[in-house]
Amino acid sequence: MDRKRPVIGITAKWEYTSSGGDPSRVEGNHLLPETYVRSVRAAGGLPILLPATLDAEVRSAYLRLCDGILLSGGGDVNPAFFGEEPSPYLGNVDPLRDAFEIGLCQEALEQDVPLLAICRGIQVLNVAAGGTLIQDIPSTVPNALQHAQKAPLWHVSHAVEVTKGTLLFRLWGTNRLYVNSFHHQAIGEIAPEFSVSARTSDGIVEAIESRRHRFALGVQFHPEGAGDRDPQMRALFVGLVEEARSPRRRLPSEAPLSLRASEMVSLSE
Ligand code: MN
Repeated sequence: MDRKRPVIGITAKWEYTSSGGDPSRVEGNHLLPETYVRSVRAAGGLPILLPATLDAEVRSAYLRLCDGILLSGGGDVNPAFFGEEPSPYLGNVDPLRDAFEIGLCQEALEQDVPLLAICRGIQVLNVAAGGTLIQDIPSTVPNALQHAQKAPLWHVSHAVEVTKGTLLFRLWGTNRLYVNSFHHQAIGEIAPEFSVSARTSDGIVEAIESRRHRFALGVQFHPEGAGDRDPQMRALFVGLVEEARSPRRRLPSEAPLSLRASEMVSLSE
């Protein structure tokens, strides 16, 4: 194989081993399941780990190094990032990881770096782009399905309906697919510039994608559970890696409102 492997930076969980009094002296472990690494490698990418940091210079250096970004799964997002107080059902929050990933995601979107966001990742993506979250599905959404499945990662537990004409539909070539489900949070208000690509029958959003960026896709399920063997789960990683091969280009900017208004005037004349 002589094709160059695009570098795919994968965010990781940060597990504190001692809190201490001095935040700069906190000790811990950076953790990432092998399934993410294997899925990126099987899709032709070169996976590297991006250890969480509050140093903005290091974060920017990560983005200069990477051709694509994968936001991995994990705990809950601090609701303060979308203007809410914590629900009693909010789970574990990691302040370092939240700050790092939201900053990284915003910078990646500004530079139109291809981005695949998985589980917690879709939530980080939506919040980073200006959306909100449902902090806990069972206590918030009446008649919701079971989204925290009690079965292995590779087991698929609920169907998703895919919106035709979306990037996800193009990658999968189907409008309905069974996926796994390991989440108690979900997307609330969709971020501006993003659209829903898939939902479950209870209305929960299972995938979003940007209308403006070349590849900014978030999925609520865990495609890495079968990313090296199931053709449709693998297609998400191949999509990211193939897009990461193309050279960076300037992001088309939204036309300012004043310009749009003047265009309307000239069209009506
Ligand atoms: Mn689900």
